[in-house]
Amino acid sequence: MSDYRMLINGRAVSTAEQDDVIDPARGEPFATCPRGTTAHVDAAVTAAADAYTTWRKDESARRAALHACAAAIQNRVQDIATVLSREQGKPLGAAMGETFGAAMWFSYYANLPLEPEVLQDDGEKRIEVMRKPLGVVAAITPWNFPVILLAWKLAPAWLAGNTVVAKPSPFTPLTSLLLADILQDIVPPGVLNVLSGGNALGAHLASHPGVRKISFTGSIATGKKIMSYAADDLKRLTLELGGNDPAIVLDDVDPQAIVESLFWGAFQNSGQVCMAIKRLYVHEKVYDSIVQGLVEQAKKVRVGQGLDPETQLGPINNKPQLERVMGLVDDARKSGGRVEVGGVRLEGPGYFYPPTIVTNVGAGVRLVDEEQFGTALPVMRYAKLDDAIEQANRTHYGLGGSVWTSDVARGTQIVQELESGTGWVNQHVDVTPFAPFGGAKWSGVGYVNGRWGYEAFTEMQVVNVKKA
Ligand code: NAD
Repeated sequence: MSDYRMLINGRAVSTAEQDDVIDPARGEPFATCPRGTTAHVDAAVTAAADAYTTWRKDESARRAALHACAAAIQNRVQDIATVLSREQGKPLGAAMGETFGAAMWFSYYANLPLEPEVLQDDGEKRIEVMRKPLGVVAAITPWNFPVILLAWKLAPAWLAGNTVVAKPSPFTPLTSLLLADILQDIVPPGVLNVLSGGNALGAHLASHPGVRKISFTGSIATGKKIMSYAADDLKRLTLELGGNDPAIVLDDVDPQAIVESLFWGAFQNSGQVCMAIKRLYVHEKVYDSIVQGLVEQAKKVRVGQGLDPETQLGPINNKPQLERVMGLVDDARKSGGRVEVGGVRLEGPGYFYPPTIVTNVGAGVRLVDEEQFGTALPVMRYAKLDDAIEQANRTHYGLGGSVWTSDVARGTQIVQELESGTGWVNQHVDVTPFAPFGGAKWSGVGYVNGRWGYEAFTEMQVVNVKKA
């Protein structure tokens, strides 16, 4: 058992009561973490509010801190990635990629130019839009990408001059506690506070009157609750929520050329990606070849423990999620769905479920209508493109969507018919620090990344000066 500690006001804090952290590849605890209480939340918010009064004042010091965070994370990539692979389940290579990504986001915001927004400047007046920090930010993260999603919040929040109280998922708290340990000396006490604990702790933090902004990534159900907590004192909100992304394969593709990309668009991180392909609509002309190609990919892929260098797909992160994915596939079977490959949990104590392709399903089947967030993909046949677009849009979700074609101009047109925050052509799951990312409809409120992500951590002030 290891000794991870929370960070409150620059001090490492432990608790007598500890929670187990489960290694999903073995289905048993491998570490413990502190069980934060509401008193810890209160102390962290107070510390963050105190630190805010000075942290907000010096942009160049904040940029220097962001550069230092990027360097510190890079120096510890191996350590962070190893813990990430253990607690989340993902292959070590992917965990390293995620950790390098976190460093990249810190560097991006360290260097982001903040241009003055001057609306009028003449003999009469100068009108300028100023961006000011909000105060204490609650950063609440899920278990699928705990490292990079924390960086997506910390870096822009800090650039703007806010201070942060972070609460990771109880399934993956260790990497956030480790990051707190690594970054604590770079920022003044109180600028970063990291607490571990369950959902109730998140609720207490999100409703805390000292918090001015909630940056939340997680499920739609929790996002709706968070919005209600924010209403009382009109806290600012960014909600990055669940997706049920459609990918539409047009009649003109070369199946062999795209099938591997489709497979990984759906199954990377064992399907536990908010913006993974979760519904695949394929034109009847190429349907059989695409299904066959996906089945071949699924049979080839090596499923195993994240720390095994041969592994390409790790386990599902936690037991409730494994049971959910299994339940959705069983439900699809009962509704007449055909399991082309997979569909049976792998033997052993870990939460392994092989890549599973399900056909002969459509709207009205839960695997199609709901976010599965795991290693199961429904593949639907269509004859008319309008029908596919209609099916793709007939949902409350709206995170991403993609169109696959050999005619890029045609794809660029069609993808704009999708009701989604991002529309990809011939790819899926591509994000960069400089492009905004967010969800349409129930998949989110607001945007992260790029200057939009920074602005979401600010309030505007119009400074209007009469000269003459
Ligand atoms: P979740 O909503 O169960 O939990 C997310 C976080 O919220 C955890 O830290 C949890 O402890 C906390 N929480 C739970 N109830 C709370 C409450 N009432 N008040 C405050 N905090 C509370 O989500 P999850 O299962 O951890 O994550 C999976 C979901 O996240 C999927 O739907 C996925 O699509 C989504 N996700 C979205 C994005 C995006 O960018 N849009 C990225 C990653 C994951």
